[in-house]
This record gives sequence, C-alpha cells and structure tokens, in this order.
Amino acid sequence: MITEWFNDARTRELTLLLDMDGTLIPFAATPEEAVVDGVVVELLQGLTECAHVAVVSGRTEAMLTDVAARLPAVYFVGEHGAWRAEQGHGAPVYLPSVELDELEAALRALAAGAPGAIIERKRCSVCLHWRQVPPGAREALITAAESRVEEWLEVHGDFERLDGVENVEVRHRAVHKGTAVQWMRARFPGARLLAIGDDVTDEDLFASLGPDDLGVAVGHGRRTRARARVDGVPEVRALLGWLRASRLNRAGGPPMPTVYQVGAVSARAPQRLLVVSNRLPAPPARGRHREVGGLASALELALRRHEGVWLGWSGRDRDPGLAIDLDLDAAPPRAHFDYPTGWRTSFYGGFCNRSLWPLMHCMPDRARYVDEEWHAYVEANRAYARLASELVEPDAAVWAQDYHLLLVGQELRQRGHTGRLGMFLHVPFPPKDVFDTMPWARPILTAMLDFDVLGFHTHGWARNFVDCVDQLVGPGRIRPGQIGVFPIGTDPDRFAAAGAAADRADVSGMRLVSGDRKLLLGVDRLDYSKGIPARLEAFARLLELFPQWRGQVSFVQVSVPSRSDVPEYAELRDKVEHLVGRINGSFGEADWVPVRYLYRSYEPDVLAQLYRAADVAIVTPLRDGMNLVAKEFVAAQDPDDPGVMLLSRFAGAAEEMTAALLTNPWHIDGMAADLDVALRMPRDERIARHRQLAEVVWRDTAERWADSFLDKLLTK
Ligand SMILES: [Mg+2]
Repeated sequence: MITEWFNDARTRELTLLLDMDGTLIPFAATPEEAVVDGVVVELLQGLTECAHVAVVSGRTEAMLTDVAARLPAVYFVGEHGAWRAEQGHGAPVYLPSVELDELEAALRALAAGAPGAIIERKRCSVCLHWRQVPPGAREALITAAESRVEEWLEVHGDFERLDGVENVEVRHRAVHKGTAVQWMRARFPGARLLAIGDDVTDEDLFASLGPDDLGVAVGHGRRTRARARVDGVPEVRALLGWLRASRLNRAGGPPMPTVYQVGAVSARAPQRLLVVSNRLPAPPARGRHREVGGLASALELALRRHEGVWLGWSGRDRDPGLAIDLDLDAAPPRAHFDYPTGWRTSFYGGFCNRSLWPLMHCMPDRARYVDEEWHAYVEANRAYARLASELVEPDAAVWAQDYHLLLVGQELRQRGHTGRLGMFLHVPFPPKDVFDTMPWARPILTAMLDFDVLGFHTHGWARNFVDCVDQLVGPGRIRPGQIGVFPIGTDPDRFAAAGAAADRADVSGMRLVSGDRKLLLGVDRLDYSKGIPARLEAFARLLELFPQWRGQVSFVQVSVPSRSDVPEYAELRDKVEHLVGRINGSFGEADWVPVRYLYRSYEPDVLAQLYRAADVAIVTPLRDGMNLVAKEFVAAQDPDDPGVMLLSRFAGAAEEMTAALLTNPWHIDGMAADLDVALRMPRDERIARHRQLAEVVWRDTAERWADSFLDKLLTK
C-alpha cells in the first residue's frame, strides 16, 4: 500500500510538509546547535523543482528567518504555526501570548535550581527541557514543573500541555502544526500531501491529513497516527532524494529506501468492558510517576481487574477530530479522541457546565438553557456512542460516567448495542420541581432509562431521580434492580500514612504561623456549589457572637483553581477574596491574621498533613454529590487526638457520615454556633465520633465503589 502511494506520487501534484529537527537534520544537545547545513539547503532547493515544499518546525522566528531568506521558493511555518514565511519573508500569524510571561518566570525560577535545565520561550508557547539535567536532580524538577504547569493551566483554558520525550511544553491551543496542512492545502488544493516528522508535535500534522495524503513518522519509539515510518534522518533524506529523482525522471537515481507500513490502528478493542467518561485522565508520561485523583485510580484499578478499556476525550481540540486513537499497551488500555473545535464551549463549557452542573446542584437560577448548546449535547452524546460502538463488540458491557453522557445509553441502544449499559452519576440529583425547569427534562430522563444500572452516591439522590421519572415520564417505568446506591470513597490507607508522615515544609510553616491557636481548615475546588462565601460569613459571625475566639483561631481556606473561563467562577473568586479582605480588616490584629486564603492546589500528601494539623474541618457545600474531602480528612486524623468535622447536611457524605457535626450552610448564625461547638468539643467525644466516621471511610473506599457497581452491571 505504501509502495503504491509512492509510485502514484511520482506523477501527481505533490506538497511536502517537512519537520526540521529530528527529521531533516539530526538532534543536537540544544536547539541552537542544530545547524541547517548546505546538504539540507541543497536538498530543499532541489525539491522545489518538482513539488511544493513547506518546512513545518517548532523553531523560533529568529532561528528560521535566515534560512527562509536563503530559500525563497520554500514555505516556512515556525513556532508550530505561530509564524510563517512565504517567498523569503516572514510574518507572525498570532500575537504573542503575554499570559505566558507568568508561567515562564515560574519555570525559570525552577530551572535556576537545576543545572542543565533550559527554558525555551516562543511567541505562543514556553518549554522546559531537561535533557541535560543530571538524573539525580530530574525527578524533583519534573514534579515541581508539572504541578506548576497544571495549576497554571487550570486558570488558562486556552492553553494546553504537551509532553515531549525530555521536555514539557505549554502552548496556545490554536497554535499547532495541523494549521500548516490547512494553509498549504488552501494554496494548492489539488495536491496530495506528504508529511514527515519525528515527534509528538508532528502528530498534529498527521491528524490533519486527508485519506489520499500520507504521514511518515521518523523513528520507531513512539505511537503514531502516521501510516508509515522510516528509520531515521538518513532515510528521510534518501527518500526525498529518490522522490525528486523519480519525479524529474532522472535515470540512475538512488533506490527507494525502506518505508514501513504502520500496523493499521485497530479500531476494535478485544475488551468486554468499556468505561466511557467525558475526559480521560492524562496518560502516564514515560517512566514518570503520575498523580491521579481517587476516582481515576479506582477506575483504573477496576479496569485492570476486569480487563476493560477506557474511552474519553484527549483534552485537545482538532478538526475534524473524533477519530479513535487506541492504545492497547497502556494499563489499562486507553482510547482517546480529539473534540472538533467548538465542542469545548458549546458542549463541555456550555450545556454540561452551565446548564446541567447548576441544575443538578439544585441552583436553577444559575442554570441557563441555550437551544444550540442542547443540540451540541445531543450531537456529542451521539458521537460518544458511535465511538463506543466502533471500539467494542455490541454485546460488551459499557459503563458511562457522569452528567456529560446522560444520553449515551439510548444512543447505543439505537445503534443496536445489546450488552449491559451502566451510568454512574457523580453529582447530586435534584428534586422534581427543580429538574422540571430544564426544558429537556423528559427526553433526558427517558434516555437515562435505557441504562440497565443507574448508580447514585446516596439514597436521597436516587429517590429524587425516581420521583422525577414517576412524575415527568410516568409511573412504572423503572425496572426492578435498575437503581443502585454506591457511595464513592477514597484510598484511606494512603491518607492515613501520609497524614502520619513527617511534616512537609508547607505544613510546618503553617503550624508556625498559627502557633497555639486552633486551626480551622477548608479545602475545596473554587466552585459556587461549595459554599465558600457562606462559610467565611459564618466565621466572621463566630468572631462576633463568640468574641472569646478572637485571636484564638486561624481559618485556612484552600481553594483549588477551577473552570476560570466560565464567568461565574471569576466572579466567585473576586467575591471570596473581597470577603477575606473584609474579615481580616475588621478583626485582624498586628499579630493575628484571622483568615489565610490560598488559591492553589496541593499534592495529596501535603493535604493529608494539613488535614491532620487542623482542629476543625469545615466541609460545608451548599450541595455536593458526595464530597471526598470529608472522607480524606477522617482518614488522615490521629485516632487518639482527632479533629472535628463540621459537615454540611447537603453533602452526599452526610447520609453516611452521621457522626460528623452536621450543619446547615444556608443558616449563617447556626453555622457560627456549630463552629463554637466544634472548637469546644472534648477529646472523648472527638474520639468517639471519629471512630464511627473511620468505620464508614474504611468500609466505603474507592475500590469498593467500583467493584460493587461492576458486580451489579456485569451480573444480570
Ligand atoms: Mg522534530
């Protein structure tokens, strides 16, 4: 097939898209040392006699301007698409991303402590290279850089992370090599494309090619979307030399070098169980430790045990998108795909996060219903179902996760899927009068009934769902055994061990600052459902109503950045910061700052120590599917001197964790009084309550959650 393509290519109009470093010229230790020598210049010049030629590189404008001027017949795309040159003259395509300055500064600070680390800043990206960092210093640098990058990305939704072989890069989403395909195609619409490249950024080239084009990956180490491979740089040069000679009908040219066909990416997985979620967790970077949330690790464990495969969004947007990239060698096997552009705002940011999220959390006044976004939701669910049915046999079991995919069961049935279908809802389910404000309440409920198992965290959420179906769809529609309650948990042993370990610097620092004062702790994703403003008000009220606590307590609120591209979240951030300022201004003393507000994330091990250092955890969401902070806090306590948990009655966790001090986050005075009770609770009572809570936490773990759901799904 590959040989045929090349035979054909000898006579057809052809556009070449060629990566530079690692493709046309061998790798050098630093980008600056990789010289574009006379051989390459001559090769490119020669190719322009018989084809349209574009060099598509990650190199900066400064490193390409000179060579572009020497080769005016060659098109140049630099900085992954942020800069282009035509007829020897370059021009930027995108304005510089000034937001990156902050991240660049942070990465430079980290690099300063690791000899050999290089920071490469481009118009729309910044990259940290550790190729030359000694092995002993690498792990610490990588871990610190990754956590800084992830934190930054959380509030900069227009950027994405790329993991290279020995680097991590953050780049604007719109800037990628695939744009070069569109650019050259627009210039030469009739030409076939041949794209050659060696690294992960070239996958964007390959993904944008059409069925008549050909992608060639250089080297063998990496999974690729290209349909062919060559061994290395010498073979690329030989291939291009052969192509030129044969297109110009020169006799006595070199023979065609070996081009291997890449084993067709089998679209069908042999697995009997498919988990489908909106997004896949990030893949493990090569040979590196990776931190994943409790849910992801529970699902991964269950998938390995049941030999299943996981399908979800890659986190990238690339047109046309929606092509499965199946990695059966990963553990568990993963299948991911790119969103078409537009889905991020209409489907994910739109219907999922601005309609369903507030509705499910019983905040209909925050929900908005836009017809176009509903259509995007239907279209996306249909696409997930199509991909699922391409991936596994029609009788395989499919377990869909959460509110993004409520219609997937129905769509799969319509495609003739006969296997068992399950859905677990990680969010609450609202009462009928609230759910009924959703214009598409009936079609959603009807679609959900096509799942054989519908799982909820609590009996309360399950009851609400049953009520909704009875009243909005009709009685008798729910089949026996269709509804199940599976309270999710955490990995308590891990939090217990981390809590008991020696203090990390962040935590000892905090202890030092709080001194002998009682420590109140809140840890939440910054989301309006978490009730952070109400809890700050309650803390202020505590200081008013019970002035004996002034100077005696410190409240540490950790808010993990989240969805900052949605306007409501930016407003919430302002509101919280304003409240913190007001409280500290009204009550603070020279030697006492009442509230310490930390807008950042912590690794689980540091969190565990914070939990253990706290006297009272304030877990007071206005509404929450479960709330794992509550369970992590309990797991991390010293059983002989445990802290108190003040828990909202409206968190799913409250249904099981009845030994916590339950409070009503809508009642500020009441919460202040409950805080006073928590602060005064005698040790015996704390121990007794903690014992009961620990029983729940060690019983309903993340692992048990996955196993019990799958037991029900896989046995009729
Ligand atoms: Mg390269």
